[in-house]
Amino acid sequence: MAKREFGKGARRCRRCGDTHGVIQKYGIMLCRQCFREVAEKMGFKKYH
Ligand SMILES: [Zn+2]
Repeated sequence: MAKREFGKGARRCRRCGDTHGVIQKYGIMLCRQCFREVAEKMGFKKYH
């Protein structure tokens, strides 16, 4: 019953809530998957 990963210091994707591979750079706070989707919509074609 150690399900207390959230709270301060927890980095979660603010789009899907995932905690894996969350990018905090530039305050993006998205997991890689969401970042790719968002980045494409925003015009970033760099991240691959
Ligand atoms: Zn996500």
